[in-house]
Amino acid sequence: METILIKQVAKQITDASSVLICCHIAPDGDAIGSLLGLGLTLQQSGRQVTMACGDPVPLSCRHLPHWEGITASPGYDELDLVISLDCSDVERLGNVYEPSKLTHVPIVNIDHHATNTRFGHLNWIDTEAAATAQMLVRLIDTLGLPLTVEAATCLLNGLLTDTLGFRTSNTTVEVMETVAYLMRAGAPLAALTDINYNRRPISVVQMWAAALQELHLEGRIAWTQITRDIRQRVGYTENGSSGLVNFICSADEVDIAAVFEEAENGQVNVSIRAVPGFNVSQVAFALGGGGHPQAAGCSLSAPLEQVRERVVTLLKQAWQESQNLTPLSKSPTMAYE
Ligand code: 5GP
Ligand code: MN
Repeated sequence: METILIKQVAKQITDASSVLICCHIAPDGDAIGSLLGLGLTLQQSGRQVTMACGDPVPLSCRHLPHWEGITASPGYDELDLVISLDCSDVERLGNVYEPSKLTHVPIVNIDHHATNTRFGHLNWIDTEAAATAQMLVRLIDTLGLPLTVEAATCLLNGLLTDTLGFRTSNTTVEVMETVAYLMRAGAPLAALTDINYNRRPISVVQMWAAALQELHLEGRIAWTQITRDIRQRVGYTENGSSGLVNFICSADEVDIAAVFEEAENGQVNVSIRAVPGFNVSQVAFALGGGGHPQAAGCSLSAPLEQVRERVVTLLKQAWQESQNLTPLSKSPTMAYE
């Protein structure tokens, strides 16, 4: 079944000569890694390729080759195909995808989020895949296209970051085989691990320190917030809560963790994590966001306290529901992004 789907996706790409590839706003290492991994590969094959993201490439992805080639304002002339990567709903593509201007152009939706709304003309959604980048390795193989060192590097970055450095419960034999395949193509695992997990600006450490002072624990649910005031104090303007929420969720006494971040645009970005046995994706989905059972998020336009109250109440319900289904246990594995 899935093989048929990959072949259908491959055929759409083979038949196209001008392609727009997009990923989700507030992009992470898998979104940008996938965008570049497929984009560079299709460029190399002689196609006209535009790589687009509605938000700027975050500092945490600027070690990837050719990230400067990603645009926030793509043209739509003579386009044969749009490919959406790692994005669970069409709004999350942001301004780079304007459906009214693209009515005659098919969109192929390639993603691994359980909450994907299947908005494409063709939808290849593999919720078992640890990262969209992992799906793309199969796709590039099906296309029969060569994998350059640069594309392999970007795809390995996606797989590495969505598995939190190969620590999540979906780090399967197939994932590790894909890692070996990408390393044989020249992708530098040690360097990528170092950049993604061993280095960060001091302002991020200071921001976490400030947020951790206000850590709340309600039952086995922990939460904290990054206010605009904290951001200004430490001089950090980017989204920096993913690492913090993962860290909070690593406490033995915590099953579900959330970080509420006051964004520059006035919205509150919510990052949620859970240990295996708990599911937070439905809470995020109900609030207009999405994600995976153990790593999800949403953005809400309301005052911080209101958002906090609403989300924490829903998380308590989700915790209770999971509790009714599974015995209380905490596995050493963590969530995936
Ligand atoms: P993070 O907390 O690292 O920003 O996101 C965790 C997971 O939830 C990622 O897979 C991310 O794509 C998803 N996610 C976060 N925020 C949103 C959102 O506003 N909408 C949707 N659909 N997914 C989100
Ligand atoms: Mn992903």
